[in-house]
Amino acid sequence: RAKAEGRRGYRFFEASMDARLQARRLLELDLREAVRRGELVLHYQPQMDTEHDRITGFEALLRWQHPTRGLVPPADFIPVAEETGLIVPIGEWVVRRACADATAWREPYRVAVNLSPAQFKSKALVASIVHALADTRLPAQRLELEITESVLLAETEGNLATLHALKQLGVKISLDDFGTGYSSLSYLRSFPFDKIKIDRSFVRELSEREDSAAIIRAIAGLGQSLGMATMAEGVETREQLERLRTLGLTEVQGYLLSPPRPADAFPEIAPRITSAERDAADAA
Ligand code: C2E
Ligand code: MG
Ligand code: MG
Ligand code: MG
Repeated sequence: RAKAEGRRGYRFFEASMDARLQARRLLELDLREAVRRGELVLHYQPQMDTEHDRITGFEALLRWQHPTRGLVPPADFIPVAEETGLIVPIGEWVVRRACADATAWREPYRVAVNLSPAQFKSKALVASIVHALADTRLPAQRLELEITESVLLAETEGNLATLHALKQLGVKISLDDFGTGYSSLSYLRSFPFDKIKIDRSFVRELSEREDSAAIIRAIAGLGQSLGMATMAEGVETREQLERLRTLGLTEVQGYLLSPPRPADAFPEIAPRITSAERDAADAA
């Protein structure tokens, strides 16, 4: 009897594994089609300097405009894209789209693009960025690449070489989500980042935890000594903004300014032509 139950349990386990794999495979197929059908879209979120309260740039954030599921956030599909390698063509599309979008903006703001670890490791990364810049004619200084510490963790030598190659192009490099995971100050010594983005969790805890403020102040000082801009992400209240300004951060980003929205929603970067006109031009 115990044996029969054991077997049933095993079969149940097998079935649920199967269902999970099945669901993942479906998501992967669906995502492949999404790229082909042009269902991926970029939203943009403004970034502001704390000295003059002026917009300095916009971060491109990927969404999947799904025919039945609606607007799917990156957390729901980027992990699968990352595991399957789909992130490489998707990431190339993101860089290209963001560069092309930025050339149509009314003002020459910087555009920040997130790079995933798998994309970063791809041999074709540097060439794909060179081509995106050349094809769209976006000046390299207007492109900013955001990488997380997980990118630096593996294969340090090769990754450092890639970072230097990118920097050589004239693009800006930011260290995203700083303070999470495996933060190491040695990253800041081994590569001259243009910007450190302090993770949202520190901002969230700013009012409850005095140590968060101390850490933010220390990072701001570090950035200043090393010649790196320091930005807080996830700024939601005016109180947080004023506190961060006092702590010495040079830039902020968050819902207080605006959540990520389609470019058309911002007068500063509303395209000079509509996206329909642009797609028609692209197709021609
Ligand atoms: P991230 O690069 O750290 O982006 C910041 C995330 O925080 C975004 O979530 C943004 O919408 C959200 N956020 C901004 N301000 C606030 C705020 O005031 N409060 C709160 N609660 N959240 C705020 P999103 O768009 O869902 O993106 C999540 C992550 O997905 C990004 O984190 C990034 O790691 C990844 N991602 C997004 N787009 C891309 C992409 O094109 N390529 C790759 N590889 N990853 C991407
Ligand atoms: Mg980012
Ligand atoms: Mg971030
Ligand atoms: Mg983050």
